Amino acid sequence: MHAAPPQTVRRLSLQATGGELFGIYAINLFFTILTLGVYYFWGKTRVRRYLLSQTEFDGDRFEWHGTGKELFIGFLKALIVPRPDRCRDAEQQRALERIAAVLLAPASGTPYTMQITVADNRDVNGVAAPGGSVVIFRGLLEETARPEELAGVMAHEIQHILHRHGTRAVFREMSLGLLLRIATGGSGLPSLDVARAVGGLRYRRGDEEAADRDGMAMVQRARIDPQGMVAMYERLQRRPERRGEPPTYLSSHPRTAERLASLKRQAAEARYTPVALLPGRRWSHIRARCK
Ligand SMILES: [Zn+2]
Repeated sequence: MHAAPPQTVRRLSLQATGGELFGIYAINLFFTILTLGVYYFWGKTRVRRYLLSQTEFDGDRFEWHGTGKELFIGFLKALIVPRPDRCRDAEQQRALERIAAVLLAPASGTPYTMQITVADNRDVNGVAAPGGSVVIFRGLLEETARPEELAGVMAHEIQHILHRHGTRAVFREMSLGLLLRIATGGSGLPSLDVARAVGGLRYRRGDEEAADRDGMAMVQRARIDPQGMVAMYERLQRRPERRGEPPTYLSSHPRTAERLASLKRQAAEARYTPVALLPGRRWSHIRARCK
């Protein structure tokens, strides 16, 4: 069964059979009643894992790596924590768009218009969504000491988009409905849904290395001080991960000493006088402006 006509470039197909799916639903219903509803989240995981494993996108099969516990914790959080929203401060937005523009200026012919969003959420996280959406969490923004540090994180995320890493990784964690909404461009702001959905995902190690390497190259082509990216990675590495913390940048971006070491080597090769990224602006003022 093809959800899209065969002549479209992206092909989404679902090979699940009704019988198998019904079997999973029946077992889920049984356990959900038995456990007074708590099993629902584990059951949902089973359905998602099954449906995604039966779904192909551009010929790739998906795998669902989420667990029932993650869904359950997410549900509890959604009950007690107000819905994460975006920061809507115009000055902050302009500053971040300016940084993205400086990064993208030498890369002419980029097929995407990058949309930068700050999620009003204290998690230290940043996410790239397919199609050109970069979501920086307020918690991550507040960790940056200067705009060059944020530029490093942004360059890394933009590289995930340009390499289309996110297409595979994000879809692994996403509901089919959301996947279709994004594929058809039907939603005004899918990025925050995506940001929530990808909380637990991990890019493949090779994808991370490519995003680091090409992100650092992007920083240097834009003549931004490469030590900003190095300093940010060092700070994130030093940051202790506390038990029970929401997913952080490091849970989707595994910390390895080699990654930092290769970034430092690459940064040492820079031979230029860095541009002033946001001349005459106080970064401590901009990063804190979330309304
Ligand atoms: Zn990454």
